[in-house]
Amino acid sequence: MKHAIYPGSFDPVTYGHIDIIKRAATMFDDLTVCVLDNKAKTPLFSVDERVKMLRKVSENITNVRVDSYYGLLMDYARKIDCHIAVRGLRAVTDFEYELQIAHANRTISGGWLDTIFITSSMEYAYLSSSAVKEIASFGGDIKLCVPPIVEEEVIKKMKIRHPEFYKE
Ligand code: ADP
Repeated sequence: MKHAIYPGSFDPVTYGHIDIIKRAATMFDDLTVCVLDNKAKTPLFSVDERVKMLRKVSENITNVRVDSYYGLLMDYARKIDCHIAVRGLRAVTDFEYELQIAHANRTISGGWLDTIFITSSMEYAYLSSSAVKEIASFGGDIKLCVPPIVEEEVIKKMKIRHPEFYKE
């Protein structure tokens, strides 16, 4: 059984993430998408909200499950006995950061946790959760970035945080 973890913040999940989930799900027997509770970032959505949206957008992919974890990816990977992490690469700018994390995970896990990179599809190479939040914070259209159920949740939050851009 080939099993991989796709870890991330997913704040919120975008079409770019969904593209990686779909493609990774064809490469592995099982894929666990894990929302890591990253204290270095101030998220728009709680971990539970992010998990809920991920479950909804991946409900039709039978070999994908969604989970969350507070702690090191390596510890989560050991907990579920999975030694492959999948990460997405958009551009050279991602590479340096991702390479560093991949090396760190491999080193601190004693060579146990390996990382596999999947390059983003061209049409999503520009897309990030931060861009989605930035666009929506000024009342911009995010339809091309996220599925309708995610768009709805983002707008709900933005109406509270930036009501000046969401007048009826
Ligand atoms: P992080 O885990 O660094 O907080 P994210 O949760 O936004 O970042 O993303 C999780 C993973 O998905 C990362 O490997 C990131 O590079 C990748 N990713 C994000 N957006 C895209 C995209 N548009 N296309 C492909 N991969 C992406």
